[in-house]
Amino acid sequence: MEKILNYINGVFTGPAGGTFFDNINPATGRVYSYVPDSDERDVEAAAAAAEKAFPSWASRPARERSEILERIAALIERDKDNLALAESVDQGKTIASALALDIPRAAANLRFFAGAILHFSSAAHQTDNAALNYTAYSPVGVVGCISPWNLPLYLFTWKIAPALASGCTVVAKPSELSPMTAFLFCSLCDEAGLPPGVLNVVHGYGHKAGQAIVDHPLVQAISFTGGTETGKKIAASAAPRFRKLSLELGGKNPNIIFADADMEEAVRTTVLSSFSNQGEICLCGSRIFVERSAYDSFLAAFIEQTRKLVVGDPRSSQVNVGALISHKHMEKVLGYIELAKKEGGEVVCGGKQLQPQGDCSTGFFVEPTIITGLSHSCRTNLEEIFGPVVTIAPFDSEDEVVAWANAPSYGLSATIWTQNLNRAHKVSARIKAGVIWINCWLLRDLRTPFGGMKQSGVGREGGFDALRFFMDTKNICIRL
Ligand code: NAD
Repeated sequence: MEKILNYINGVFTGPAGGTFFDNINPATGRVYSYVPDSDERDVEAAAAAAEKAFPSWASRPARERSEILERIAALIERDKDNLALAESVDQGKTIASALALDIPRAAANLRFFAGAILHFSSAAHQTDNAALNYTAYSPVGVVGCISPWNLPLYLFTWKIAPALASGCTVVAKPSELSPMTAFLFCSLCDEAGLPPGVLNVVHGYGHKAGQAIVDHPLVQAISFTGGTETGKKIAASAAPRFRKLSLELGGKNPNIIFADADMEEAVRTTVLSSFSNQGEICLCGSRIFVERSAYDSFLAAFIEQTRKLVVGDPRSSQVNVGALISHKHMEKVLGYIELAKKEGGEVVCGGKQLQPQGDCSTGFFVEPTIITGLSHSCRTNLEEIFGPVVTIAPFDSEDEVVAWANAPSYGLSATIWTQNLNRAHKVSARIKAGVIWINCWLLRDLRTPFGGMKQSGVGREGGFDALRFFMDTKNICIRL
């Protein structure tokens, strides 16, 4: 069985401790490869390699860094079928969705920041006739990039592309639950001519390898995407060292559907925003609020379309919903469905574990689930489930729905459906979330700021914000 290896100083290598742990295919529940159980010794080697590589990488012309990123993107596109298959086996998502979303987006991340760094500019401030100030940017040095399991290569590259483009060198750790495509990616970096030490990937558990990255004295900035509880730990560790932090955390996103919406489109997109990637996208809407006059018809159509979703073997082109990431996560999701029932909810669609035929009978599948009858303030409606489970409720007024939408401690994204542009603007302004979609979902422009409010995070990724995060800012004042 294949062993995943760390990639340190341009060399594929086993962990210093010599131990590996199981990597499980979520669709079958069986071990299919092994992951290095890295510790602070591996992180030490990676950080030292990154530190050594930094001066030369940082001083290379932006054009050269950009060309290398473009070459990596082209190699991702060349290997897209292989990478999509690997992502599906490792994560449980369908091959079709990996091919449609994850892998193209990974290439797009590299291409985007390869271009962005060539267009990066800084400001000058003239102080009357007394002085001229200009802002200088320089890469911060060695950075840590830590990513989660739900969109493995997509989010891994979303962090390292701006870091590398801006001239930083990287110690990265993908999730221990879905490390395969980050491993394959390292070979592509090699082939594209990325110099040794510029990107170092250390695999392993968060509390061990991840924490060692956060605590390492050479690591100047940490870009993290994952759960809010982990984000709190990372923030607490990094704060006394005054490290730069970007934290992209959990969500509990509302979908607000007014009666004047284009209902056909709203239902179609809400099915996607609820159950795409098994509901394991931080931007999935998990609480649906529909204006009362449209509630019954929306619910009927929503249930009807959700029932058409085929759950099962992620390799099959007929399947829409694949496996959840792990047995533990499946138990968590099923636990929330039980909690919802205890809280007075009625499961009107799905609600159960599913065991497809064949070798997927031992995989981690849950039916797309719709729950009605819950209060906006119950635990099911406040806590992140991160699976194919949504709640739906009618609302009577704008004030009421805004209060419900803002009730959880999270504030990542929201979706608003209405033909009334004035109302769309007003409601958007009142929703505490970093990303608002009106009459659409997951329509992304990589130049836009991305990130959450409240417990959904700190900082913004995307566009020049991402490049600036990986740079130090200096004002230089010249007396005239
Ligand atoms: P997680 O927090 O368990 O793990 C994320 C990463 O952090 C993994 O690589 C893990 O190994 C590492 N880690 C864990 N403990 C660590 C520590 N003490 N120090 C350093 N690293 C540590 O999250 P997850 O379960 O992998 O991902 C699911 C979560 O991610 C959900 O809450 C989801 O909403 C969130 N998410 C947010 C966004 C966003 O953009 N806001 C995007 C995707 C996922």
